[in-house]
Amino acid sequence: MLMGMSSPRKIGQVLSSPVPGQEEAIQGWIYRTRSSGAIVFAVVRDSSGVIQVTVKKGNLPEGEFEAAKSAPVESSVIVIGKVFEDKRAPGGYELKASSFKLVGGADPFPITEYQSEELLLDNRHLWIRSREQTAVMKVKASVLEGARAWLKANDFTEVTPPILTQNACEGGVTLFKLKYFDREAYLSQSAQMYLEALIFSLDRVYSLTPSFRAEKSRTTRHLTEYWHLELEEAWTDNDGNMEVQENLVTAMVEQVLKDRQAELRLLGRDPADLKEVRPPFKRVRYSQAIEALKAKGFDLAFGSDMGAVEERAFTAEERAPIFVTNFPREIKAFYMKEDPTDPATVKCADMLAPEGYGEIIGGSERETDLGTLTARLKAQEIPLEAYQWYLDLRRFGSVPHSGFGLGIERVVRWICKLEHIRDAVPFPRTVARCYP
Ligand code: ATP
Ligand code: MG
Repeated sequence: MLMGMSSPRKIGQVLSSPVPGQEEAIQGWIYRTRSSGAIVFAVVRDSSGVIQVTVKKGNLPEGEFEAAKSAPVESSVIVIGKVFEDKRAPGGYELKASSFKLVGGADPFPITEYQSEELLLDNRHLWIRSREQTAVMKVKASVLEGARAWLKANDFTEVTPPILTQNACEGGVTLFKLKYFDREAYLSQSAQMYLEALIFSLDRVYSLTPSFRAEKSRTTRHLTEYWHLELEEAWTDNDGNMEVQENLVTAMVEQVLKDRQAELRLLGRDPADLKEVRPPFKRVRYSQAIEALKAKGFDLAFGSDMGAVEERAFTAEERAPIFVTNFPREIKAFYMKEDPTDPATVKCADMLAPEGYGEIIGGSERETDLGTLTARLKAQEIPLEAYQWYLDLRRFGSVPHSGFGLGIERVVRWICKLEHIRDAVPFPRTVARCYP
């Protein structure tokens, strides 16, 4: 609160419990204005909503009326006024101003109603003030809040793995390499191996960190920097791990439905669409998924990877996420455990979001046998030196364990029904863009 003011309220609070005739103070930014002679209609926004302010010559000092009349869009203001019902105003009520203080003026705002996507991205530092972007950020905060609450309730400890690393967890081509004094290091693509090390002290761990992928492909679901929620659990097989995943994702969705229905509607997502997100999620084997896709006309065989196009077709009719399990060993990472009941495959699962959104989680049971793991590293021509510490985890009290990685922006994109993943993060990093 600024000094000398009666305590201002959030616009959302004023509108949700309006008391006609009561004096209110608000502080925010000019969203739009229009004036007709002796009266100015200014719509003011803050983090909670927008309200119409009517500024009438004679009801307040002349200088303040002039300020209101000439205040450009995005000027910051403090307004005091009485609440009146007005059916035409957004929210049904307006403030009749008795005081209008300009706090920070504004240059002509570079963003107007019809703008190219590029201009909006160049002005991202200003565009994040938009109501859509504000809504997305609130949904994202609720996704994280729901996740953390569920993880705490289920005895997972949050840990802080390194971002600078010499491991190339998910493969070389998408690594950001950097000079680390006289050596080479990489920006982390995944905390998985560090989390595997941490289960020996904490049993059940998770981390929320940025992950970096030098993804050259320009898709609507790849960022080069994204927020990665990763989890690792001792004494658990792939099936147990899938239960954790479906419960966690359900908890995220429930938190959003509890707190952010208005934001979802503003973004064009009907909250009712998400009501079917309830465990257990469907489980389909990779081989069945390939058959289903072949029936839809895709030219695939056992061993083909499922990319965005296949995932879109496969999930288009779904209303809740779906697991695809038992991918062929050849197309999956070296650390995934072979399924003894179907040795061409590994004990893994991808969770695909419905409505065509596709992969949001990749997870698996981890190989625990030192010999098998070493052989698979060699078969994939991965140099063993950098992995000695990781192999130590199998030398000292190895236990069955499983884990997964979830892309926060992928989940937000689906929940908010966004066209492009870049709108799920305030300052997107993609092949084309690292500014602002
Ligand atoms: P994809 O096949 O879509 O590239 P991936 O198999 O490379 O995904 P993983 O390495 O398993 O993905 O990463 C775990 C999770 O991290 C994914 O399920 C996804 O939610 C998220 N993720 C992976 N790459 C990106 C990216 N470039 N941008 C945003 N999220 C990502
Ligand atoms: Mg990838």
